[in-house]
Amino acid sequence: MSDHDFLSEATELGQQLINWRRDLHQHPELGFQEVRTAAIVAEHLKELGLEVRTGVGKTGVVALLQGSRPGPTVMLRADMDALPIQEATEAPYTSRTPGVMHACGHDGHVAIGLGAATLLARHARELPGQVLFVFQPAEEGEGGARAMVEDGALDDPRPEAAFGLHLWNQVPAGRVMAQSGPLMAAGDMIHITVNGKGGHGALPHEAVDAIAVSGQILSALQTIVSRNVNPQESAVLSIGTVHGGTAFNVIADKVELQGTIRTFSPAVRETVLARLRVLLDGVTTGLGATYELVIDNVAAAVINDASVSEVARAAAVEVVGATGVAWHPPLMVSEDFSEFPKLVPACYMLLGSSSSELGLDAPHHNPRFDFDERVLPVGVALLATAAARFLEERDIHSQD
Ligand SMILES: [Zn+2]
Ligand SMILES: [Zn+2]
Repeated sequence: MSDHDFLSEATELGQQLINWRRDLHQHPELGFQEVRTAAIVAEHLKELGLEVRTGVGKTGVVALLQGSRPGPTVMLRADMDALPIQEATEAPYTSRTPGVMHACGHDGHVAIGLGAATLLARHARELPGQVLFVFQPAEEGEGGARAMVEDGALDDPRPEAAFGLHLWNQVPAGRVMAQSGPLMAAGDMIHITVNGKGGHGALPHEAVDAIAVSGQILSALQTIVSRNVNPQESAVLSIGTVHGGTAFNVIADKVELQGTIRTFSPAVRETVLARLRVLLDGVTTGLGATYELVIDNVAAAVINDASVSEVARAAAVEVVGATGVAWHPPLMVSEDFSEFPKLVPACYMLLGSSSSELGLDAPHHNPRFDFDERVLPVGVALLATAAARFLEERDIHSQD
């Protein structure tokens, strides 16, 4: 069907992709602060002749590539933000901003998005439709995708399919996962405040010990996943922070707990949240304390659309061959790419990016995270091929 050879063209772009990636890596920016990054993105997209909108969802960039004739719109998404981590790699392109690091590979995603735009712009005359490029801010739990959607990024034109990818260091470089169904879990942030009554450490009968109450809560919460969730389903409840108390001889009046819940099925999520409330009610009432619970739904689950995933899978086979395409068990991590499938059928892909020979196999969000840059052209070819294939397949069907 497609007679492009996007992999060869992307491979020729190789040094440019590395230059973009390393420059962004040296200048990482946190969520909603991607000012420099967005300016680089916008400038390149304008040079390619695209219609560019900046400041969408605060620091996001949207660009439209017109093909040769009217047709559907396909969307490609890349995220741009870094993390509040002090980099510990010895790479020559290590972060120059103390305490901020591209430890999730989003620098690579931006380079891949710019590369895909470069190739598709070069072939614009062959495209029966349009390509919408969405460079989003603040993927790491701050709602960048939602901000862009609310700011109209997908309104005009409304895409008919969306593709995106994440570099994935749990998988060897070059292997591609483009599968339909559940890929990444829904993520909720929970914040529990346990209120007791402070007092003297030697007079516990005059006080309500918020630390003792929190201990019972921590223990009770462990039963939700193990005793209330159907073992055939998936769920995680992890408490990540516990803060309380001021001195060795003072009974704490307050403890703050923060944690995360990960689920795939909305029904399982409801079960976990309902049990959480029941246990908090029961334990605090029984022990004479009170609580406040705040639940922040950070991301819905990423569930890939069957027919769009067919296109992604065909593109993956074209780029890396059938033996390079693998299935990955659904991941309990979450991704706010899930905002886009609420509006547009979508497929989110994973591109293996680790190399143990090169020592590039630290996990995501680790201070030593780095990936094998040889996968950058593969990512470019994947997105460009998926977009072109989607438009060409629609074009053929419209001529039936
Ligand atoms: Zn991340
Ligand atoms: Zn990420």
